Amino acid sequence: MRVNIIGGGIAGCALAYMIRREGGEPVIYEAGPSLYEDGQAPEHDCSTYNPRYSAQWDENAKYFSLGYFEALRLFEEFGSEDIRWDQCGTLQLLANDKKARRYPKTVASWRGNGWSEDDIALVDAKEASDIAGLEVEKEGMFLKRAGVISPWRVCSKLINGVEVKLNQWVEDAGALPGDATILACGTKVTSFREAAHLPIKGVRGQVTFLRETAVSAKVKTTVNYGGHISPSLNGVQYIGATFQPWLKHTDLLPDDDVQNIRNLCERFPAAAGEYEVVASKAGMRAAAGDHFPVVGRLSDKVYVSSAHGSHGFVSALSSAIILAKKIVKNEDAMPEDVIRQLSPERF
Ligand SMILES: Cc1cc2nc3c(=O)[nH]c(=O)nc-3n(C[C@H](O)[C@H](O)[C@H](O)COP(=O)(O)OP(=O)(O)OC[C@H]3O[C@@H](n4cnc5c(N)ncnc54)[C@H](O)[C@@H]3O)c2cc1C
Repeated sequence: MRVNIIGGGIAGCALAYMIRREGGEPVIYEAGPSLYEDGQAPEHDCSTYNPRYSAQWDENAKYFSLGYFEALRLFEEFGSEDIRWDQCGTLQLLANDKKARRYPKTVASWRGNGWSEDDIALVDAKEASDIAGLEVEKEGMFLKRAGVISPWRVCSKLINGVEVKLNQWVEDAGALPGDATILACGTKVTSFREAAHLPIKGVRGQVTFLRETAVSAKVKTTVNYGGHISPSLNGVQYIGATFQPWLKHTDLLPDDDVQNIRNLCERFPAAAGEYEVVASKAGMRAAAGDHFPVVGRLSDKVYVSSAHGSHGFVSALSSAIILAKKIVKNEDAMPEDVIRQLSPERF
């Protein structure tokens, strides 16, 4: 079964891997000159991987758990050196009243549904400070097995053995030869007539790469304080990110770096200091009106995988497993409530 994938970002690369695993023949069409194009900061290619949290064991929790545990399995298989995998954990501070109410419910409801104490736990401010490497004033939710990877390197592994057509801007999904076509092209999916009705928009964001300082180098885990900072890699730390749904471009903005640093210093005071910006990276997150990914069938032979938002890494893997199973084997990889919640038919 030949399956065309339009878009060679993380969603497209994950789809190619999963379709091959199910026994299909994926072909990626990518408009740009390379896959997972990250031209603005290639040497600092770095991404966090963690699920999107919900207070209940609901569709969101089931969907993101699928991709998260698949990510852990795949990273083992790929080898940590090859993908710059740092399983440093992620500490989500209970930074405001909403998170203080929500995260304890998350831990209580996700535990026992595939999540062990080692996977997700509440920690008091003292434990959180030990985990972070710097003093934090709040309690936290800690995911010991989360961390950071190089998305470009992971994508290179995912497409091993896959036919890839670069510099190929596709306009008509129905015109491609094959048994099925998947639109995996982020915010651009709505340029296809099959997906023109979907309420998918771009939310611009910029991350900043900082030269480590004597203080910030002590950070041992990814700390989320309402922004986030990663541990040092070769003397550089990754902080982010801005959210600007009103901006329609991805030009780098020096003011965004200032905002990211100010956010770090104000919300994580133990890490405050003078920072040198080494590089910046801006992009568009595709997001649906209801903030849930859009994954499923659009017409007879055309499918969509988009709106992966801020948790694109894990979402890309979950959606790829679901679509690959459906298209190649006509099987559902998730319960009906999750499939329905993801479906483009909900709009
Ligand atoms: C600043 C910032 C920081 C982020 N940090 C993280 C993070 O740390 N962890 C995380 O999990 N997520 C993060 N995200 C979110 C994540 O980057 C996205 O969710 C993810 O990249 C979406 O991947 P995608 O493959 O769906 O889309 P894209 O990455 O947008 O890829 C779509 C591809 O389709 C191609 N394309 C478009 N139209 C066509 C066409 N007509 N024909 C052929 N090809 C086409 C494009 O060239 C592109 O390569 C971040 C996002 C931003 C903006």
